[in-house]
Amino acid sequence: MAGEEQQQVPKADVLEKQPCPICRESTLTLTERETEVPYFGKLAMFSMSCTSCKFHKADVETAEPQEPAKYTFEISSEEDLKVRVIKSSQATVKIPHITTITPGPVSQGYVSNIEGILNRVKHEIEMLKESEDDEEVKQKAKNMLKKLQRIMWGQEKQKIIIEDPSGNSAIISERATKEKMKGIPGKAE
Ligand SMILES: [Zn+2]
Repeated sequence: MAGEEQQQVPKADVLEKQPCPICRESTLTLTERETEVPYFGKLAMFSMSCTSCKFHKADVETAEPQEPAKYTFEISSEEDLKVRVIKSSQATVKIPHITTITPGPVSQGYVSNIEGILNRVKHEIEMLKESEDDEEVKQKAKNMLKKLQRIMWGQEKQKIIIEDPSGNSAIISERATKEKMKGIPGKAE
């Protein structure tokens, strides 16, 4: 599909010299762009970057309001690495027996794919392995990296679950199951 990338280059609204919520200097750049994700719809991508304190926050939001949703997908081949994933900052990403990416102030929102998510996890585990002195923890991290590599080569199946009370996240595949999320605090069923 030639030309696909060009079509997806969105034009961005940029606001410079904004006050930073962390260090209060007027060195924050706000960027907002709209993008269209095939088989999903329009999406707004936001980012805030401060040159003074290096604060960075990115997030995604769908154009239409969404219901809280839970997506489950089984990674079973190398081909599955290309499956598009939209992850908002409010999402919890569960990769059973490997890790859970939790929402919070430092959580970022982004549009990626399964490979992108696994690479982020890989990077985190590598950093942990480097900084850790405990041999047992080091060995555990090594085993985890091997497991991740097998998943990425399609040699081992792995479930991935994304729960998002804002409904702004999605796994875009016919094989992904989407369920309504239950038990949202402060929201009646
Ligand atoms: Zn700042």
